[in-house]
Amino acid sequence: MINFVGAGPGAKDLITVRGLELLRTADIIIYAGSLVNPELLQEAAVGCRIYNSAYMTLDEVVKVMIDGERSGYKVVRLHTGDPSLYGAIREQMDRLEEAGIGYQVCPGVSSFCAAAAALQAEYTLPAVSQSVIITRMEGRTPVPEKEKLHLLAGHGCTMVIFLSVGMVEKVRQELLDGAYSEETPCAIVYKASWKEEQIVRGKLKELPQMALNHGIRKTALIVVGECLGDDYELSKLYDASFTTEFRKGTKV
Ligand code: SAH
Repeated sequence: MINFVGAGPGAKDLITVRGLELLRTADIIIYAGSLVNPELLQEAAVGCRIYNSAYMTLDEVVKVMIDGERSGYKVVRLHTGDPSLYGAIREQMDRLEEAGIGYQVCPGVSSFCAAAAALQAEYTLPAVSQSVIITRMEGRTPVPEKEKLHLLAGHGCTMVIFLSVGMVEKVRQELLDGAYSEETPCAIVYKASWKEEQIVRGKLKELPQMALNHGIRKTALIVVGECLGDDYELSKLYDASFTTEFRKGTKV
């Protein structure tokens, strides 16, 4: 059994209890060296073999997994944040499937959650936005035509944009081509939950300057939407006059 484990967004103690247990009992760990906090590797058992996948190809990663499993070792594949987002796990899982090797996935705290925590924001505010779009700007990895940023931006809901802080000028233009205005609040969160975390808030028109002024070129998320503004409606859930499954509303 191979375990794909979400390492969380950065801070060592933001891995799940289950993920930590898997890490501590692994014989082999293959970690995504570009973003996983190396402090987590201190949790590895003595004698555990550790590989940094930043220097490896898919073939090499899969070979370590398959050889390890066939030798009876416990293998952990440690991915940053939650493995389901930009984690390239599907191609690994399919290779394991072909080899007849079982695997499971332990979720992690994604950086988009850590960014909300850093911003002390609620992405889904009543009467403001009830949806969060997680996407990226096209880079060397293409984005399907129907998901081009300006098209998704047409919804005007909360958006969290990964892997794009190196293209802020283009991001701003695409967002303006959608439903946002120059005054829409936005934020850049660099290395959410790490010691080096930086939070930069502003308006969409200032987005390129925000990145430039703080020298942020990677490992950051762009958050945009009125959820970062001041106006919203109170929730129904805690409204005194609203009856729920657990509480009878009072007449006001
Ligand atoms: N699976 C990861 C995302 C991997 S893609 C997750 O769930 O978070 C890598 C991109 O994620 C980075 O380029 C950056 O845009 C974002 N990212 C990862 N960790 C981050 C962090 N701690 N703070 C801000 N952005 C982060």
